[in-house]
Amino acid sequence: MEKPVSVGPVGYVAVEQPFGVEPPCVCCPLCGQAQYVVEDDEQVETPCAHLAFVFGGDEDEFIYASDDFAARLEQFYARLQHDFATPESRDSDAYEDASSFYRDLFPQRLAEMGYGQQLLALRITYGGMTEDGPVWFSDVYGFDYATLNQDDAE
Ligand SMILES: [Zn+2]
Repeated sequence: MEKPVSVGPVGYVAVEQPFGVEPPCVCCPLCGQAQYVVEDDEQVETPCAHLAFVFGGDEDEFIYASDDFAARLEQFYARLQHDFATPESRDSDAYEDASSFYRDLFPQRLAEMGYGQQLLALRITYGGMTEDGPVWFSDVYGFDYATLNQDDAE
């Protein structure tokens, strides 16, 4: 990786909304741009240059990745494949621990992907009622302050 590794830990903030409140439209802390707009009841992603990723709690996967983040994620999974080469090894608790983006493992994964204090990950947990009862989801937005240098250089 060309970029210098940041010394401090990833900025990771987890907040929980009151039950029944719709998830917020998150705006970039750097430029103020809303990260999606609603058109005809559909969410349309409108990521700015500072957004590294969006992890959708409902989808349980990354629903947006910048080119830089996608490359890091690819490297991360390639390493994982290498470290856990056999189907048996991928059936283990160790693999679960090493591969999961669940809760507190999330900032750890980001650190393993080379992120540090220049990244802000904002986890927003929200709950609502469905036919099957109450459900809670957590979305995570990642904003990369390192992109500011790239903007200056251009
Ligand atoms: Zn922005």
